[in-house]
Order: sequence, then structure tokens, then C-alpha cells
Amino acid sequence: MKISIIGTGYVGLTTGIAFAKYGFNVVCVDKVKGKIKSLSNGVAPFYEPGLGKILKKLVDERLIEGSTNLEKAVKNSDVSFICVGTPSLPNGLISLEHVKDAAKDVGKALEKKKGYHLVVVKSTVTPLTTEKIVLALIEKYSKKKVGKDFGICMNPEFLREGNALNDALHPDRVVMGEYDKKSGDILMKLYRNFKCKKMRTKLRTAEMIKYASNSFLATKITFANEMANICEKFGIDVYEVMKGVGLDKRISPYFLNAGCGFGGSCFKKDISAIISASRSKNYTPKLLETVLDMNETQPLQIIRMAESVLGNLKNKKITLLGLSFKPGTDDVRETRALSIAKTLLKKGTKIIAYDPKAMKNFKKLAGHRNIVYAKNAKAALRKVDACIIQTSWEEFKNLRPKDFKVMKTPVVIDGRRTFDNTEIFAKNGIVYLGIGWKNFAI
Ligand code: NAD
Repeated sequence: MKISIIGTGYVGLTTGIAFAKYGFNVVCVDKVKGKIKSLSNGVAPFYEPGLGKILKKLVDERLIEGSTNLEKAVKNSDVSFICVGTPSLPNGLISLEHVKDAAKDVGKALEKKKGYHLVVVKSTVTPLTTEKIVLALIEKYSKKKVGKDFGICMNPEFLREGNALNDALHPDRVVMGEYDKKSGDILMKLYRNFKCKKMRTKLRTAEMIKYASNSFLATKITFANEMANICEKFGIDVYEVMKGVGLDKRISPYFLNAGCGFGGSCFKKDISAIISASRSKNYTPKLLETVLDMNETQPLQIIRMAESVLGNLKNKKITLLGLSFKPGTDDVRETRALSIAKTLLKKGTKIIAYDPKAMKNFKKLAGHRNIVYAKNAKAALRKVDACIIQTSWEEFKNLRPKDFKVMKTPVVIDGRRTFDNTEIFAKNGIVYLGIGWKNFAI
């Protein structure tokens, strides 16, 4: 079976690589020529650990190729995955512009194709989108009938950026929403070499599983943040507390890491979308609204900590280490670094920023004005009043107390509990404050 992937972003490319690695011939389509040129040269168009190496190998072995010709790619394949973006609209709902364009173009290509074809929606879409919108557009533009000429599935993606390749190759589970048994059987065949739990269900249930999963994960992090803010008042280390909490099998230790809030392209977008979709059906999900509200205020804890040590932040020089929304990626979408930087700039603080991978993308997001970008972490720390760690990159974990001694006043404010040994700072005359850390002795 040959596979075409429509949309060669984080999801499309890693999905394509995973299927190619398991022996299928894959063509990845994108309308951005630069991405396809990069892919065709065996170079990943974005940073993700391990992706470049495996892509080069698969391109050399001719198992994966890039194309801007959607029609040809669909006509020459048996299955097409729609992996285009579904960005947020101002009203919280998702924009279906790219999904609709892709569905129309797949439909037009299918009109000219002989034989059965399976279309799989992998983009995150709110319940009923696949059956009411994608299916209808494909029928309209192909002039063909679902169930007879083509099949349709909804196969949500759960990969984590920073670990995308591993997650695509070895997922925890594969969820397959199917229009009918024939569609589901074909998708099952594609996933036969993936050693994980597989669940077959209805199209709309598969769509909802994605939203329910991300809502739960974001709620779990927000819960840990709430506990952190309480712990701090009592001089208790929240990381020790969550270690104890996570020992409970019903809870598990994952996603209990308190910090300065979650970022990334998915959590906020997905939760906003499911809130808006629920409201359109006259239900207000209060818990999810609170999760989003709390996530906006959580980065301010960092500013409050800086003020508790330095007083007025006007004209103070503060280093911001880590600009990507998490380690292992150059993605800065919804990064908490932006909220922190904006608040500091409003207060008249001078910012020296550094990130090992995300500086180029952050410059586009935050602009150059009033932010000085350093060439490495050690250079960023020179003669500053405090340092904020927003992303716990390995490079920052390796910083030693002596590296912070070059600061004007050695104050480390850790938004991500970057260091295993936090006691070492006080022993070296460095002020260390962290989210949910026992900042103030009681
Ligand atoms: P992305 O923005 O990185 O990539 C989308 C790609 O689709 C872009 O390269 C764009 O040029 C291309 N595209 C758009 N319209 C097209 C068209 N008509 N024809 C061909 N190409 C087209 O997006 P992403 O992060 O890969 O996310 C894709 C979807 O998967 C979204 O719905 C997202 O919510 C979901 N998702 C993302 C992640 C993640 O961690 N990034 C995880 C799970 C699910």
C-alpha cells in the first residue's frame, strides 16, 4: 500500500517517517515549496531530536519523498492522511480552512482516480467535523460515494514535540475512528507493525478522545501548579509532594511537574476549541475554563519571585534562559517565555535571552527591540541582576554554581525545577527560588 500525507509539519512528517520506517512507500505533500525542497534533500524542515538522521536514510532508500503536487500524490497512493494545521480562531474555535482545502483537493484528485481510496483525518478536529464536513466535501468534489468508492477514518495524533519521532514509531496507543468496517480494516493493516494497544471506534468518538486526552493532561499540570503555589506558602517542596502523590497507581507520576505553565501549539488551542464547541451546544465546561485562566497567570509567579528579591524591576538586567515551549524543540508557539518577556518589558526590565535551538523562531515572535540575544548561556549570565530559567534544556542542567557567579547579583529563578540538587546554590552564596520550592523558610 502506498501512502500520501497532506501537510508536512510536525505531525505529517513524523507520521510519514514512521510509516516509511515500517516499510511503506510514502509521499509527503506540502504547499510550502521550501519544506518539500528541504525534505527532498533529506533535511528536516524543523528541529526534532533524531529526525534528520532517519529522514536522510529513508530519502536515500527512496521510501519517502516530498512533493507539492497533491493530485499526483493522491492518485498514486491507496491511502491519504490529512495532517494540515487547525489553528485557533479569535472565538476559540479552530479554523477549518486548511482541512477544507485539503478535503476539496483530495476529492478533486479522487474524481480522476480509479479504484477504492481511504482518507484518514489526522489533524485535530472538533467532534462531527470528519463526518459532517470532510466526508461531505470529498463526496462533492470527487462525485463519488463514501462506503463504495472511498472510505474514511479519523486517527488522532498524540505525539509530544521534543519526542515526536519516538512517539510516532512507538505510540502508547492508536485510536482509529472508522466510517465502516472496510475503512477500519485498511487502517488496521497499516498499523499492523506498531506494537501497541489499538482501539477501533466511531469517527466522532475518536475526535473526542483527542480533546479529552489533552484536556486531562493540561488539567493535571494545572493541578500540580495549584499544589505548587500552596506548597510554597507552607515551605514545602512540591516536587517531593508530587513524588509521593504519583506513587498511587490511579494517578501515575507523569504530568505532575509544577512549573510556570504549559505552552505549545496544542493544549491551549484544543481546550479553547472544546470549550467553544461545548458552548455552542449550551454547555459551559467550567473546569476547563479555569485551567486556561490559571495557565495565563502561572508565569506571573516568576515575576513575583524576581520582585521579592530585586524589588522594582525597572532598569534591572534579567537573563531569560529557554525560549522554546519545552526542551527538545525549536517550537515557540504559546511559549511561556513570551508572557514572561512581555511582562518584564512592560516593567522596564532589560532582557538578555538565550536558547540552544529556538532563538530564530523567538525573534520572529517577540521581535528584536529591547531584547538582547546572547550566543550561549554563560555569556547571557554576565553582569545581570537575576536569571530566569523557562525551559529545562540539558545545557542549563549542566550549569554549575560557578557559572552563576559571573552575575552582578547571583539570583536564580527556576520556572521548571531544572536542577536535581537545589541545596547546592545556598551553599555557594546563590539565591535560588523555584516554582513550588520551599522558597521561604518557615
Ligand atoms: P504544522 O503547522 O507544523 O504543519 C501543517 C502543515 O500543513 C504546514 O506545513 C502547511 O504548510 C501544510 N498545509 C496546510 N494546508 C495545506 C494544503 N491544503 N495542502 C498541503 N499542505 C498544507 O502543524 P502540526 O503541528 O503538524 O499540526 C497538524 C495537526 O495535528 C493540527 O491539527 C494539530 O492540532 C495536530 N497535532 C499536533 C501535534 C503537535 O505536537 N504539533 C500533536 C498532535 C496533534
